[in-house]
Amino acid sequence: MGKNIAVDGPAGAGKSTIAKKVAAKLGLIYVDTGAMYRAIALYMIRNHVDGQKEDAVNEACEHIEVSIQYVDGEQQVLLNGENVNGYIRKEEVGNMASVTSSYPKVRAMLLDAQQELARKQDVIMDGRDIGTCVLPDAALKIYLTASVETRAKRRYDELVEKGASCDIKEIEKDIEQRDYQDMNRKISPLKQAEDAVLVDSSDMSIDEVTNTIIQYYQER
Ligand code: C5P
Repeated sequence: MGKNIAVDGPAGAGKSTIAKKVAAKLGLIYVDTGAMYRAIALYMIRNHVDGQKEDAVNEACEHIEVSIQYVDGEQQVLLNGENVNGYIRKEEVGNMASVTSSYPKVRAMLLDAQQELARKQDVIMDGRDIGTCVLPDAALKIYLTASVETRAKRRYDELVEKGASCDIKEIEKDIEQRDYQDMNRKISPLKQAEDAVLVDSSDMSIDEVTNTIIQYYQER
């Protein structure tokens, strides 16, 4: 494996914003693995598969192919050949992804594809299990976190900017539930890898976090 960076952390910690910036500055390919779990979740929602029923989800997986393409440097997720980037950002999809990503079959489907991407090029990959499972030999592992309040406020501001009306307490509850599910599942739970650097972005600007990561990378 080349000089890859693994970024893990809870929902709303700013992983994708930061990883995109670091990728641009260091000339790495940014891989958003959450988008792949979201594509599978979207399939379940569209086809009225009950996410709580593992057997039903496993069966549905037989009909799913998830792949990634880059258009002008932006990652596009293809679900059975259809570009679904425009449909996977809703809270509903994130919440379903958090349920279905706990099943071994779903994880196995995506693991190979993710490792293959990192074999072909140097990547900065973000998710929940990148440092612990997907890229155990990454040159740098970052565990990016922030307080629940900060993460809820960031998501709230993002949604308001898009013109959505929402309740910050509801968002906080959603985030707490997603953290709990992601950290407590049996397979590949979210946790800091032993050799990961902890970065708490609660009181840091985007540029500060970006520069911190670049500095760590250059020291390696
Ligand atoms: O990061 P994002 O919010 O897009 O991820 C959606 C969900 O996908 C997460 O809550 C998590 O359950 C799952 N996921 C995962 N492993 C990854 C990336 C995402 O289990 N590497």
